[in-house]
Amino acid sequence: MKIKLENPIVEMDGDEMTRIIWAMIKDKLLHPFIDLKLEYFDLGVKHRDDTDDAVTMEAAEAIKRHGVGVKCATITPNAARVKEYGLKKQWKSPNGTIRSILDGTVFRKPIILRNIPPAVRTWQEPIHIGRHAYGDIYKCVEEIIDCPATAELVITPESGEPRRMMIQDFKGGGVVMGMHNTEKSIRSFASSCINYALSEKIDIWFAAKDTISKKYHGFFRDVFAEEVEKRKADIAAAGISYRYMLIDDAVAQVMKSRGGMLWACTNYDGDVMSDMVASGFGSLGLMTSVLVSPDGKFEFEAAHGTVMRHYYEHLKGNPTSTNSVASIFAWTGAIAKRGEMDGAADAVNFARRLEDTVINTIESGVMTKDLMQIAEPKVEKYALTEEFIDAVAANLRRQHM
Ligand code: NAP
Ligand code: MG
Repeated sequence: MKIKLENPIVEMDGDEMTRIIWAMIKDKLLHPFIDLKLEYFDLGVKHRDDTDDAVTMEAAEAIKRHGVGVKCATITPNAARVKEYGLKKQWKSPNGTIRSILDGTVFRKPIILRNIPPAVRTWQEPIHIGRHAYGDIYKCVEEIIDCPATAELVITPESGEPRRMMIQDFKGGGVVMGMHNTEKSIRSFASSCINYALSEKIDIWFAAKDTISKKYHGFFRDVFAEEVEKRKADIAAAGISYRYMLIDDAVAQVMKSRGGMLWACTNYDGDVMSDMVASGFGSLGLMTSVLVSPDGKFEFEAAHGTVMRHYYEHLKGNPTSTNSVASIFAWTGAIAKRGEMDGAADAVNFARRLEDTVINTIESGVMTKDLMQIAEPKVEKYALTEEFIDAVAANLRRQHM
């Protein structure tokens, strides 16, 4: 009998090579084994354009309703894409739109394989990165100073006298920047990090530079600590811990750790560190991503884009070897979360079995080209996009019998 899920998963289809992989995953790895109830939204760029992007907002609202979504990679249109697809305009990034509607934080987690050694020898467990995605230098106001001038910080309360602080009395040229964050956003970030760490059952590390920035970074430290304090009982019950440290200490500790923690990062640190961790673990095709809202809604996806170069080869009729692992894990993440929320243990087990099958398939030497280049021991040939998915399907069927 097929496994059945009673409640919906919000499915968001996407673009280019990942859209092709998406259909293969559903046809070959999911539908034959599990009855999913899907609420489907086509976030392919053409359909976003046809609906004036309303479909993206509808999908985000559906995730709010049902609690779990899974998203294929999508094109964020630039001028070239507007021309290529004949779009009405450069629509905003769907990920950005969904993130702002759910008020969520993005977490990235690499998939670890025995025959894909990480660049850092001690890393044995995934290092999960949670990046605060609001404010700081990403919403700054800045100016070049090209003559002697004074720069001040002026805070004008709704009522009361303005407060002025001298930043610098410039004798010549220079540069100045003002940036901010909001208490609400920092609280949501901390709360999403705690939800994620509880769900993954891993320790939380949070780091900033509060020795130097006593107020700005100190504020982050204190707000984060307050949110941790509120969830003290849950954190203790899960057997996980919380550590605050200085960012330079955190970097040094991460490099000699065995991994297996959530590294909560401020916006800029997360931007930089997530790329370091991703390349340190091997391939973009092995990096998963999940958006978690402070009220516990989850949206799963692969961290990579639509793999345009491979798609153009595919359109020319050439064979491709695109890694589908992160997209498969987006599905297993969503199915396991749905199962967990609904108390459907067989669905959770199916998701874990599919993940194990993917890992075993690669560890037996069947892998796409991106992995073949870094595998140890070396393998002789790589699998094409569909060959890899077929190999996983065959291994899954073998177990299912
Ligand atoms: P990309 O799709 O991530 O691909 C960049 C390169 O990384 C590929 O050309 C390929 O290298 C390698 N790569 C990425 N994923 C791979 C996989 N699964 N298997 C094998 N190789 C993989 O980034 P892009 O080409 O710069 O962006 C394409 C489109 O994706 C853009 O329109 C962008 O807006 C969109 N995008 C969407 C998301 C999202 O929806 N979350 C995220 C990022 C980008 P080789 O060419 O060397 O094989
Ligand atoms: Mg970046």
